[in-house]
Amino acid sequence: MDGHPMPMPLRVIDLLRHAARNHPQVEIVSRRVEGDVHRTTYADTYRRVCRLARALEALGIARGDKVATLAWNTYRHLELYYGSMAIGAVCHTLNPRLTVDQLVWICNHGGDRMLCFDASFAPLVAAAAPGLQTVTTFVLLSRTAAMTAPQVEVLDYEELLARQSDADIDWPTPDENAPCGLCYTSGTTGDPKGVCYTPRSTLLHAWASALPDVLALSAQDTVLPVVPMFHVNAWGLPFSLPMVGAKIVFPGPALDGKSLYELCEAERVTMAAGVPTIWLGLLEHVRAQGARFNSLRRTVIGGAAAGEAMVRAFELEHGVRVLHGWGMTETSPVAALNQFTPRQQALSVDARVRLQTKQGRELFGVEMRLEAEDGHVLERDGASTGRLLVRGPWVVQTYQGGVSGARADGWFDTGDIATIDADGFMQIVDRAKDVVKSGGEWISSIALESAAMTHPAVLEAAVIGIPHPKWDERPLLVCVLRPGQALDRAQLLAHLQPLVAKWWLPEAVEFVNALPHGATGKVLKAVLRERFAAPPLQQTSPVY
Ligand code: ADP
Repeated sequence: MDGHPMPMPLRVIDLLRHAARNHPQVEIVSRRVEGDVHRTTYADTYRRVCRLARALEALGIARGDKVATLAWNTYRHLELYYGSMAIGAVCHTLNPRLTVDQLVWICNHGGDRMLCFDASFAPLVAAAAPGLQTVTTFVLLSRTAAMTAPQVEVLDYEELLARQSDADIDWPTPDENAPCGLCYTSGTTGDPKGVCYTPRSTLLHAWASALPDVLALSAQDTVLPVVPMFHVNAWGLPFSLPMVGAKIVFPGPALDGKSLYELCEAERVTMAAGVPTIWLGLLEHVRAQGARFNSLRRTVIGGAAAGEAMVRAFELEHGVRVLHGWGMTETSPVAALNQFTPRQQALSVDARVRLQTKQGRELFGVEMRLEAEDGHVLERDGASTGRLLVRGPWVVQTYQGGVSGARADGWFDTGDIATIDADGFMQIVDRAKDVVKSGGEWISSIALESAAMTHPAVLEAAVIGIPHPKWDERPLLVCVLRPGQALDRAQLLAHLQPLVAKWWLPEAVEFVNALPHGATGKVLKAVLRERFAAPPLQQTSPVY
């Protein structure tokens, strides 16, 4: 008879338990809704999670029940992740930037039993409450606001915890393939879809993303997850950080450049993670103040493309390594990450920076491939452009409600258009729906935006396709200028001329005060299209 290792199932609570046993005094620091900075440790957090798990069970929460959260990144949100998952319930993170109607739809579709919310979201919950068909328990996470919604009883989180013992628990072993987390996509194309995470997908994703050539997380790190815990589990950091015992610094509701910079310096943050719009705010603040990062060593950028200007600012002005990554709600989310090989480290600065605008190589566990329109698999040659497909143990198979996600052949079609080079570095050209189709050729809105943002007067840029009688579509560039800067169309086009192919030059340029951003920080191109795309442009000849 063959021997075999212990068939111990993967459990989420073991991540925090491990941190509490091996890094008990490592801190978890949070800017709170209350306005102060709160400090706790892994050991104390684990004890509070024991209290919370008991409190949830006392309220009737059982295996498979959905515990919804509407909360900022703080220690309380972390406790809710672990407390709910530890007893086999499902932590359903809700995005507070959605409208009341969207929230109601998502809660009802998910079948949430309990809703736990930060005081800042009390008005949102009060507005949503009448439409919530399955929520029976509302829990306010701090006493800084009272919620007045008729016929709704609101429980106090701290009181619930205070009533329970913090003694260790002999945790149950939920099915490692049953959902423990739920997050809906932003629904930019149709109804939002619920992506379920399991203990197995969560732990494998945490292990893979902590590796040296991915996020390189360790107990030496102090990490600032700016990326929200209310969307795709803050890129899995609430799991991978306890796994390695890193100190965590949660920004709470204060996401402006000044607050983030001050927190970074005060807590000696070594790594931060967030979307480009957040880093724009931080870099602008640092630039305006002439400030320096004294402890920050690396920053993870994902969710939208990190353009050349942003990579240069972090790398060359501040000596902060940029780790550009790619993923989706459907991929837990980390699927590709850009860390250099030794050969690339030896490249010239310009070549290196250009390489860093690529989204990186697949993590072990995720497989990527490119497909042409006719379905044949494309070469990994850095030039062939096709639809990006992925598969792996933390990639969606079916959505909440049984809606199919992956194709019958086992691959998930991301809806992104990309290239992959011979070294495996993938570059997102565009979302399929955003690419500008001009005269039968494709123009990458991402590449054009990145080129526009290298102009020192341009703060942010977005490119959309506008209907054109001869060329089908032509690019329209929408720009936000830095405060106090002036720039006209001709100057901007002159800047772009040496950077992009002639026929890529924008047909038109619009200057606006701000770009519309969606619930996850991405530019809302649909809103720009509504505003600028109709009626068709009068010009019949392109600028080239
Ligand atoms: P949604 O919920 O809107 O689908 P996700 O957070 O799941 O939002 O976003 C996934 C999409 O974001 C990807 O399909 C891709 O288009 C885009 N994306 C993510 N990371 C990057 C990146 N580094 N560069 C360019 N696009 C990115």
